[in-house]
Order: sequence, then C-alpha cells, then structure tokens
Amino acid sequence: MLSNDRILSMAQLKAKQTQVIILLGPPGAGKGSQAALIKKKMSVAHISTGDLLRENIKRGTALGQKVKSFMNAGQLVPDELILDMLFARVEESDCQKGYILDGFPRNISQAIALQKRLSKGYQVVALNLKVSDDKIVDRITQRVICKSCQAPYHLAYSPPKTEGKCDQCEGSLYQRSDDTKEVVEKRLTVYHEQTAPLIDYYKEKSTLHQIDSTASKEAVLLAILRIIKNKIRPIDVD
Ligand SMILES: [Zn+2]
Repeated sequence: MLSNDRILSMAQLKAKQTQVIILLGPPGAGKGSQAALIKKKMSVAHISTGDLLRENIKRGTALGQKVKSFMNAGQLVPDELILDMLFARVEESDCQKGYILDGFPRNISQAIALQKRLSKGYQVVALNLKVSDDKIVDRITQRVICKSCQAPYHLAYSPPKTEGKCDQCEGSLYQRSDDTKEVVEKRLTVYHEQTAPLIDYYKEKSTLHQIDSTASKEAVLLAILRIIKNKIRPIDVD
C-alpha cells in the first residue's frame, strides 16, 4: 500500500522520470527484437551490456582496460565494473528519456546492485516476456539467420519466401551452431536457476508486468507500449 504523500511525490516525479526498462524472459523470448522495436517507437536507448563491454575494450577506455584484465585472468567481470560502464553510458543524451537494459541484471545480486545505484528520478519498468520452455526449444532449433543482414526466420512460422535465401537482401541463411536442443536446454536451466528469480524480485517491488510473448511480434510490442506509456500501475495476469 502506498501512503498519500508517496502517491503525491510519485505524481510529481512522473513528469521528469527517466524510464529504465528491464526485459526479462528466457533466451529466445524475443527480448532483442522487442528492444529494437521499443527503441524505434519510444526514442529511448537500447543498451546491451555485452556490447558495452566489447565497446569499452575496443576503445581502450580505463574501464575497458580493467574489464580486459579480469577476462585475461579468466575471471568474471565484477558487477560493479559493469555498473560503472552502464552509468557512464547513460550520461549520454540519447538516454535522457529512458533506456532499455538488455542482458542486465542477470541475477538477484546484480538487480540489487543496480537498484542501489539508481537515483530517485528513475522509474524501473520490468517486463517479463513469457514463453514456455517447449516453445523456446521449438523457436530456437528452427531458427535460421541471414549471413549478411542478421534477419531471423523460423522454418515453420516465418519461413523465407525462397528456401535458404533472405527476403530482404537475398543473403544466404544459416543456423547458428549453438542453436541445438542440447544447448538451448542448458541455457534454459541456467535461466531458471539464476534469472527467473528476478521475476519475483520485481513483483515484490510492484514494477513487474507480464507479457504473453507467444503472440505475434506486433501484438507483443503493442502490449509493451501500452504499459510503458501508462506506467505507474503494474498489470499482473498471473
Ligand atoms: Zn538478409
């Protein structure tokens, strides 16, 4: 329950709040493609922490050099270092309205660390893209990708017009070597152990919204945009 003064201050904050959009859901739930669509529609930034790490290393920034030393030693990059890079990135002008986080947080300790570093002017919107494990296996094992433009196709649900060729650029289509049933099942196990608990974490904070991600890309996007635009009150279909 929110007290009256809390509601008031939320209303006052609403106008200038920066939205931090967190996409949750298993691998293959469509987080990457939805992030690209949300970015286009809402003029918010799309920040992939994996890309951020690689960029910092490539540009040889002070943070990138630190990351490299951990990687060279075969160690995990500490969460605080990832957050340092993230908060340096969100200073840039394209993040003023908000940003979508892709690949972070991946576990509860990262979520807590993130929460600690967000200032009051931020509003977290966690979106859980729900798809069953069976459907994920089906999606990923039947996925083919264009070699030239990376456009994804599904052999059963969205096949290319000409077999083996991209509709957009006529590039040849291939299957990623790790898009096998065994690899997908392993990734799903890791997801259920480490990332799925985030759903409860954000539910407790009343910032979680459930999205049925088995619907078409357009329908999923519409559901997401409705939530982002109305924010504040979460919708729970559980
Ligand atoms: Zn293509």
